[in-house]
Amino acid sequence: MPRSGIREIFDLAHQIPDAIHLEAGEPSYPTPPHICQAAIDALNEGFTKYTPNSGIPELRRAIADDVSRRCALAVDPDQVVVTPGGVAALFTAIKALTDPGDSVLLSDPAWPNYRMMLTVLGLEVQAYPLLFDDGLIPRPEVIERHITDTSKLLILNSPSNPTGTVIPPEVLAEIMELARRYDLWVLSDEVYDQLTFDEEAAPVARFDTDSRVITVNSFSKTYAMTGWRVGYAICPQEIAPLVSKVQEPITSCVNGPAQRAAVAALMGPQEVVAAMRAGYRHRRDLVMEMLMQGGVPAVRPQGAFYAWVDIARTGMSDREFALKLVRDRHVAVVPGTTFGSQGSSSIRLSLATETELLSEGVRRLVEAVNQWAS
Ligand code: PLP
Repeated sequence: MPRSGIREIFDLAHQIPDAIHLEAGEPSYPTPPHICQAAIDALNEGFTKYTPNSGIPELRRAIADDVSRRCALAVDPDQVVVTPGGVAALFTAIKALTDPGDSVLLSDPAWPNYRMMLTVLGLEVQAYPLLFDDGLIPRPEVIERHITDTSKLLILNSPSNPTGTVIPPEVLAEIMELARRYDLWVLSDEVYDQLTFDEEAAPVARFDTDSRVITVNSFSKTYAMTGWRVGYAICPQEIAPLVSKVQEPITSCVNGPAQRAAVAALMGPQEVVAAMRAGYRHRRDLVMEMLMQGGVPAVRPQGAFYAWVDIARTGMSDREFALKLVRDRHVAVVPGTTFGSQGSSSIRLSLATETELLSEGVRRLVEAVNQWAS
């Protein structure tokens, strides 16, 4: 596997004591106290043993109820597999659905961990470009051009890391029609589904008429629980036992107290999610205003907490720009090619950073683009 471009900048930035970190997708908010308390209670009660591979029954039920209500879908607890973070849900689901040598359709740009997983699992990547002219929304006819006889699975991610775009429902309906026509499994990564700023993100499963969608979600971003490692997959009835079985030799199960914490997250007050969403929306508006005033083009993020910024005016490559920005201006951002070849004149910055640091980082970035461009 290639070394992650995020790591290179991260390591460099950590040698600079006053560096502003706009590279990591780590919520600046703490995990809400009632969620932490549920884990403390679980430990005090001695809830410290193995749990079933698919997760404790009360969490599977709480997830099924939550998704059924929020997404207007009928989800049964048997369809839910609880995993160590969304990352493990993705990995086990891909492993369960494919054989080495199969091909997987993936957007360019895309979150780099998908490509890493596909490489580890001996799968071919068929990268379909997301074009600026299409607002970085996948186009069904572009995806179709990349389908071959070995294509088995299509990965979708809306809201998107790194672009912040949300795929409109009518495009999802067309993509699902394509998946049916070519008999593709669809893995829909919806870990940012509750962090949208304008329109809600439509769940892909809503357009699934013949049980070919596996939806992945996580407590990491929604409830600021990245370190707890709780995510889940919602699978068609016959696929869930398979994903659960594949989990046995990899991670077996999620630790019990973290699962109790996840139950508390779902059963407790949801205002905490609304408050974080409002905070990210405020930062999105602030950053977009600063970039626009500074003449730096960027795609307006509709969800997740990233901004995809165009640095073509500087004439520098994404990597050159990111390295110079961290060395000269002490601001760390991620080079666009970390996410795919389409990112060669873009960088990604994270809106998850605390507001004052974020605005100082963006101020320096805008100044740098304008000075280096001239
Ligand atoms: N999917 C996307 C697009 C992400 O950006 C991330 C984390 O950054 C994840 C999945 C996995 O998150 P976790 O494993 O913490 O649930």
